[in-house]
Amino acid sequence: MKKQEREHVTKHLFITGGVVSSLGKGITAASVALLLRQRGYRVCIQKLDPYVNVDPGTMSPYEHGEVFVTDDGAETDLDLGHYERFADVCCTRNSNYTTGRIYQTVIERERRGDYLGKTVQVIPHITDEIKTAIRSLDGPEVDIAITEIGGTVGDIESLPFLEAIRQYRQEIGTHNGLFIHLTLVPFIKAAQEMKTKPSQQSVGILREIGIIPDILVCRCERPMEEEHLRKLALFCNVRRELVIQEVDVAHTIYEVPLELARQELDTYILEMLDLHVRDLRLDEWCAFVERTIAPKTRTCEIAVVGKYISLKDAYKSIYEALAHGAAANDVQMTIRQVEATEIEAKGAAALLQGVHGVLVPGGFGDRGIEGKIQAISYAREQGIPFLGICLGMQCAVIEFARGVAGIADANSQEFAPTTPSQVIHLMEEQKKVRALGGTMRLGAWPCDLHDGTQAAAAYAALHISERHRHRYEFNNDYRARFEAAGMVIAGTSPDGQLVEVIELKKHPWFVACQFHPEFKSRPLKAHPLFKGFVHAAAARADSPSKA
Ligand code: GLN
Repeated sequence: MKKQEREHVTKHLFITGGVVSSLGKGITAASVALLLRQRGYRVCIQKLDPYVNVDPGTMSPYEHGEVFVTDDGAETDLDLGHYERFADVCCTRNSNYTTGRIYQTVIERERRGDYLGKTVQVIPHITDEIKTAIRSLDGPEVDIAITEIGGTVGDIESLPFLEAIRQYRQEIGTHNGLFIHLTLVPFIKAAQEMKTKPSQQSVGILREIGIIPDILVCRCERPMEEEHLRKLALFCNVRRELVIQEVDVAHTIYEVPLELARQELDTYILEMLDLHVRDLRLDEWCAFVERTIAPKTRTCEIAVVGKYISLKDAYKSIYEALAHGAAANDVQMTIRQVEATEIEAKGAAALLQGVHGVLVPGGFGDRGIEGKIQAISYAREQGIPFLGICLGMQCAVIEFARGVAGIADANSQEFAPTTPSQVIHLMEEQKKVRALGGTMRLGAWPCDLHDGTQAAAAYAALHISERHRHRYEFNNDYRARFEAAGMVIAGTSPDGQLVEVIELKKHPWFVACQFHPEFKSRPLKAHPLFKGFVHAAAARADSPSKA
């Protein structure tokens, strides 16, 4: 056993992006991870982000999109959501490092005097710390570690990361590490032609800093001609078969791995890394994609009522989890994105008329709160299936207090710090917290569900673990009063103190949770609450009087 462990080498893949941002590097990295996993390899994956924030936890969704939370309580980049959904891996704190986090460690060490009087510099001190972050993935339980470098090659801020991966691969050797460069091959309408020049230039920048990509993955709107593929191979010093196309997919991002597998990207990777090319088992994934694409006889429309609706990345995991729920129920689902402030202006009935389900996701701050509460009243009164998540649950509690329990001034301490009726209030442990970054109640916590509830039926379990990200909680002073008025406390922390799930009696499906179920949904394992919610919405759509 000892001997085997000594011989084990974790191989590394480094994925960079060129020409423009938003090329889908995360989805490409996640797709590669899935393929290697389905060939029987144990894969681990991380993202290195060149921005200076220590983590994205303090950034507005407008800046950064969703903050993805891991089981171990890290607030991370949304690409980790893709990694978990595609490769079904469990990410950790080691799965996301930023320039800020790297510098923080180095500066703390410098203040302690650990550098023994030396000048602390980007090279080698910062690059060494980046290499430590990459090496944190190594271990006997990992065959292949994938590292995605955020940003675009040519950015000033990504230079230390590129230098670090250049050194890393130099140290481990060409059979233990590969560079994959994702680039854009645009189609120029006026010339009716695809252009390879931006990719050549992007590879040129990489070469200047000593990185020669082994594989090029070309994002393109339409299939490339053989002539373009050859040209890129020639100019970029890459074998022709290692110039891979990633054409825009027609239906779902979950088709991407199938396209890459068709071009045998995973086979080439394994060969170059001197790893045995085992059988690829993609049947279940293919079946999922086919099921998603196939025309459906049943349909339903779900409203997502939020305050970052204009930004598609802000509720990424929510939309994906809904899609998983729709596939699991075999229904064609459409999403109506509703801006909460619009509801305040025009009324819930005007904007939610005809939907079969209402979802209110998490969020912070008071903008749009009253619109979300109106949407929840509408769902409650009309018997429309409702799923409330984190802030969505807190709004459901406020709505119940006002609309059912008769507490007209009910609110959350977050939005109305002076209201006497704080049905949602700051958690005890949060009262002494001053700093903003990484200080919420974060990560996986256990929850006990109560028998006979919608939630227990959906999970088919009574003990669950879900991920959290919040500072405020249900105020237990109101518990008995709300229960008497028809609220069901469906789930609590194991000590019974923290209300985690609420439901309503006399409603077809009304479930709201303090945690974020969307982070744990997978294409092949739709999250029980999303599956149950879409099931209830589809049932409403089927019923002729309600559709
Ligand atoms: N703002 C609320 C809190 O901090 C809800 C957080 C969330 O929805 N993630 O408790």
